[in-house]
Amino acid sequence: MQINSFEEYQKTYQLSVDQPEQFWAGIADNFLWKKKWDKVLSWNFSEPNIKWFEGAKLNITENCLDRHLADNGDKPAIIWEPNDPQKDSITLSYRILHEQVCRFANVLKKNGVQKGDRVCIYMPMVPELAVAVLACARIGAVHSVVFGGFSAKSIADRINDAQCRVVITADGAFRGNKQIQLKEVIDDALIGCPSVAKVIVLTHTRTPVSMLKGRDIWWEDEIKLVDTNCPAEEMDAEDLLFILYTSGSTGKPKGVVHTVGGYMVYAGYTFSNVFNYQPDEVFFCTADIGWITGHSYIVYGPLSQGATTVIFEGIPTYPDASRMWQVVEKHKVNILYTAPTAIRSLMSFGLQPIEGVDLSSLRVLGSVGEPINEEAWHWFDENIGKSNCPIVDTWWQTETGGIMISPIAFVTPTKPSFATLPLPGIQPVLVDEQGNEIEGNGVSGNLCIKFPWPGMLRTTYGDHERCKLTYFSTYENMYFTGDGCLRDEDGYYRITGRVDDVINVSGHRIGTAEVENAINMHAGVVESAVVGFPHEVKGQGIYAFVIFPNAHGDEDLTRKDILQTVTRVIGAIAKPDKILFVSGLPKTRSGKIMRRILRKIAEGDTTNLGDITTLLDPAVVDEIIEKAKK
Ligand code: ATP
Ligand code: MG
Repeated sequence: MQINSFEEYQKTYQLSVDQPEQFWAGIADNFLWKKKWDKVLSWNFSEPNIKWFEGAKLNITENCLDRHLADNGDKPAIIWEPNDPQKDSITLSYRILHEQVCRFANVLKKNGVQKGDRVCIYMPMVPELAVAVLACARIGAVHSVVFGGFSAKSIADRINDAQCRVVITADGAFRGNKQIQLKEVIDDALIGCPSVAKVIVLTHTRTPVSMLKGRDIWWEDEIKLVDTNCPAEEMDAEDLLFILYTSGSTGKPKGVVHTVGGYMVYAGYTFSNVFNYQPDEVFFCTADIGWITGHSYIVYGPLSQGATTVIFEGIPTYPDASRMWQVVEKHKVNILYTAPTAIRSLMSFGLQPIEGVDLSSLRVLGSVGEPINEEAWHWFDENIGKSNCPIVDTWWQTETGGIMISPIAFVTPTKPSFATLPLPGIQPVLVDEQGNEIEGNGVSGNLCIKFPWPGMLRTTYGDHERCKLTYFSTYENMYFTGDGCLRDEDGYYRITGRVDDVINVSGHRIGTAEVENAINMHAGVVESAVVGFPHEVKGQGIYAFVIFPNAHGDEDLTRKDILQTVTRVIGAIAKPDKILFVSGLPKTRSGKIMRRILRKIAEGDTTNLGDITTLLDPAVVDEIIEKAKK
């Protein structure tokens, strides 16, 4: 299943386009099926209706657990690193994980959960979170994991949208020096959620919680009442595996639906290839399991390949900015997969936190979530990878289930800030506003995918029309990603930002990511966000919000320096018309910049900022609004 040279990649890619069904059937053969498919693929993008491996029967947990027991039962499946470095880490072998999953699956059954029921999981980053996810999959219940930082209102919306029957939570969570009272938030949320019959509560922080008779039960009590024998439910390939709500960067979150067979094949295939995972290596993805990255590359992808996966409860800057590197050293991490927002934040602490930390176990580095600017790319490459580890800049979405455009480690020559080339099976196209395909190289347009792949979403939960409208109606017969993209002279892809964020300056289309990339090259800039605003002469002007801690000395001069930098990197056309120095940027809880809020501020319209429930720190918005008025 692993590709080992660029020639092999090219050959495989060609086969995957010429004979997609044959190609994916070959990949699917590497997994464990109770019964093989009757038909590999049937599809249309007009309804849309997409089916992979129709007629096949399987259970994803047999692929993630049972099939590794005979040869690798004692191999570590999960290494858990707690928030507090003084506390012990925990290692779960495949055998133990299997046992815990089966046991907890029986707890779910005992509490009335049946195949097809929806279960909301709102937990800290502890091994039991993975156990809960897999236990749902074991019995065919549909999990909906909600990131353990969302408010009661956001959780209630998600529970009601999916009509969840059971909630799995914990008393509380540790995050850096903060404690989050998870159960209390759930209690508030459930006031408006009549569908929920049971709440299973794990003890973690030992904060006092209220336990409602008849509804709330303890995890620790329940697991004593059941045994560890739980046969895996036989699932159809197209049965629902999970619902996951998008981060909400662009609007109201959507309940993206993934199904068992295709998702499994895609998560496993991309994991094994992109990161070039080797047996006995330790894989560390720093995302939260509450995001798709955690679903595919902490849980399902790695476990389906029998890998060792790290679950880290804490944050990169606690107790100090060396923590993430300490975790790499402690667990001899070989593959580190993180996000540009984390890299930029750690960069701002300089090199001191890395000094004396042994990072020599690292072999591959990965980035996901946002375009990675060149400055951050080089810093990551030189200081963490010691110029010796390929960086895979992986472009994908909640909706795509797994990585789509990305280098394959040791196979694809990389280029800073480029996601490079599509993985086998992925057929990207760039289209203009009218939906005409833009051919050739050295072009840019809106990124679409013109052929199905196994990991793609099947619907948005409870609202198929919304799925059709959002992804399949903008352009006929194509999946529309919502992202703008450039294909350079080498045919390499670079994501330039959301299409909504592309700025049209005097008829030139300029991607927000490109301008931010240039601004961030200026020494002293920590991070920046760029949006368009109405401009009398140019149509749209460029407004830059810049974090520059030492700008106060001479703000005007600093502004001019930044303009110089942008001119040098991109050209005078991309020079911001306004630069506002700020101390923070509005971000989603997954760490992405919410440009739509900044766009409102730049337009001077702050009356209706839209849905801001997924915002990390609303106070930042007030500060920016105040500064922008001056
Ligand atoms: P919503 O859809 O609710 O607005 P979201 O798009 O932020 O939220 P995700 O599915 O988590 O939710 O994020 C996918 C998006 O993240 C992509 O469409 C793209 O804009 C951005 N992205 C992810 N990885 C990369 C990458 N490597 N390079 C550039 N952009 C990326
Ligand atoms: Mg999106």
